[in-house]
Amino acid sequence: MKKISLDKIRNMGIIAHIDAGKTTVTERILYYTGLIHKVGEVHHGNTLTDYMEQERERGITITSAAVTTNWKKHRINIIDTPGHVDFTVEVERSLRVLDGAIAVFDAVSGVESQSEMVWRQADRYNVPRICFINKMDRTGSNFDRCVWMILDRLGMLPVPVQLPIMDNDTFIGIVDVVSRKAFIWDSDELGSDFREIDIPAYLVNATAAAHEFVLNTASCYDEELVELFIEEKPIDPQQIWNALKIATLKMDITPVLCGTAFKNKGVRMLLDAVINLLPSPPDIKNVSGIHPHTKKDITRRTTEDEPVSALVFKLMTGQGNQKHMGQLTYFRVYSGVIKTGQKYLNVRSGKIERFGRLVHMRADKTEDVDEVRAGGIAAALGLKTFITGDTISDINNPILLELMDFPDPVMSISIEPKTNADNQKLGIVLGKLAKEDPSFKTEVQEETGQTIIKGMGELHLDILVDRMRREYGVSVNVGKPQVAYRETISRTVDAKYKHWQHTGGKGTYGHVCLTIEPLEPGDGFEFEDTVRGGAIPKEFISSVEAGVVETMQRGIFAGYSMTDLRVTVYDGSNHDVDGCEVGFKIAASKAFKDGAKRAGPVLLEPIMNVEIVVPEDCVGDVTGDTNRRRGKIQKIDYNGKTAIIVALVPLAEMFGHMGDLRSLTKGRVSSTPIFSHYDKVPNSIADDIRDKHNE
Ligand code: GDP
Repeated sequence: MKKISLDKIRNMGIIAHIDAGKTTVTERILYYTGLIHKVGEVHHGNTLTDYMEQERERGITITSAAVTTNWKKHRINIIDTPGHVDFTVEVERSLRVLDGAIAVFDAVSGVESQSEMVWRQADRYNVPRICFINKMDRTGSNFDRCVWMILDRLGMLPVPVQLPIMDNDTFIGIVDVVSRKAFIWDSDELGSDFREIDIPAYLVNATAAAHEFVLNTASCYDEELVELFIEEKPIDPQQIWNALKIATLKMDITPVLCGTAFKNKGVRMLLDAVINLLPSPPDIKNVSGIHPHTKKDITRRTTEDEPVSALVFKLMTGQGNQKHMGQLTYFRVYSGVIKTGQKYLNVRSGKIERFGRLVHMRADKTEDVDEVRAGGIAAALGLKTFITGDTISDINNPILLELMDFPDPVMSISIEPKTNADNQKLGIVLGKLAKEDPSFKTEVQEETGQTIIKGMGELHLDILVDRMRREYGVSVNVGKPQVAYRETISRTVDAKYKHWQHTGGKGTYGHVCLTIEPLEPGDGFEFEDTVRGGAIPKEFISSVEAGVVETMQRGIFAGYSMTDLRVTVYDGSNHDVDGCEVGFKIAASKAFKDGAKRAGPVLLEPIMNVEIVVPEDCVGDVTGDTNRRRGKIQKIDYNGKTAIIVALVPLAEMFGHMGDLRSLTKGRVSSTPIFSHYDKVPNSIADDIRDKHNE
């Protein structure tokens, strides 16, 4: 591949609600950019970006693969982001390495709660976005409503840069609002050309209004446009695009386009918009991190002259015809140049590794490259020490890039290997899967010796169990899914404990005074040390914290881990001879346990935000079912004859939910549960759970 200047690179992702058409849009992009010559429809289950077999079966994308392609002398790296909510952690890590994104919406359902969630994640990572209203060919498609929902639900100013041309409710073409030109397609065929027509009479006024809005917006970012406008001089559309790009990058606006990927309309214009509106690596601000030892802040510019800094965002075992490649480590380079044959530092582990082979993924093929420069995305083969989220750094100029934020699992199941052979491989396989997916955790239960796997929901765990079997040939029996409850406290207490054991030889001593207070939901755990005058020597404070943290793992109410509380150690005493780490750890543990019992312990459960889309005649049945599940209806919206019910439902009540909904609605339903927050379990249920735990 030719050397491409940094400003001609676009690292972008496609974010969407499941089923909005992300896979279809990606496929069409790969087709129009010449990377594939045949398009496999999603419902036939043979698309290229859906790597894994089970994805094909389920029709969802669960693995972010980065694909490199070219469009009009630009290089576009598409980082695939999964649509299913159970894999939000995958969404997060892809967002981290993107510079911009296309948000795809279904023109009929518009902005759904899951799209809202992905949108908020993109906000968190400051990812500028353009919107593509897909499925304009569907009956009931409504461009204006979608634009309104972007403003109303996402709180972002939408700027339509296109308008759909409808002919008796059929989508036939697009008005480019910037150039005020209209185009229609003569057929739905793949690759069919569009041609220019006069703007249809019914759209003349709307186009004028939309153009004025675009121009007004653009003028805020380019003063020259204001002058040209006032003097009524001709304006080069590229100048308008440039100003809109500035607004998009500042995240002041989101430009809106439309089309239908399935019927091959609008994808090439979308690619033009990617080039015109989304940022290149130098457009993004410098990357920041810290020195791993001195912890001093470091910033690096996105240039090749700076020392190497790069982020590992994905590990993947080669699938299909890439199986022989073994493990692929996907990374994004922020500064410097990563070259084959050179050694780099894994900042987390402190280990140095030589980078052997580097490849660009080109749909189903790979292309070897000698180097990956700042702004580039590629995969390395054969690396051993790196895991998702790791920083790759120049050896002599170490930098640790900001760590990724991974949520704690909300569900667990026990697994049991089917055969002895399965048992022997299990540990290694679980280790590999956990390395790839930080939202997947495993542990062996002390009392029973059972292996427990934890993840973000039933589907997430299902898929991991499936992968164990398919990819590694390890079969397991699974237990019943368990909800990951948590515990917290409801009032502030004081707790003291003096530990002194001095029978025979050297004794152990520790004495602590703690305040234990509840924090707001989601605040996690805080530890503070306000001890004055060395009542507890500094070197024992970390033992006090360790004693508390260890005790919090097994809460006092029903044995679940505790959260949302602050422990302050404010006093205590030491013993010259017997004071020791173990003594302070024991004292802290006992004091905490005693205090927590008196602090009004509370059991918390994960609550899911569920959006259920059903025909309006099913609303009564579905709300009844939701109430039976202790669900709280938040709102019901109507779009024609379709109702959108939004409810908060405890995860513990969600088992079998989809099956029940299907039978209530005769299959005319879609539902998306997303983890929302932890909330207090009602007393009677909490008591049952405690009794079961104590049995
Ligand atoms: P993803 O889950 O977001 O990746 O969505 P897919 O690309 O898998 O599409 C979901 C379904 O919508 C598939 O059956 C597609 O064929 C269909 N689809 C995608 N784009 C369009 C479109 O523009 N119009 C229509 N009518 N269907 C589409």
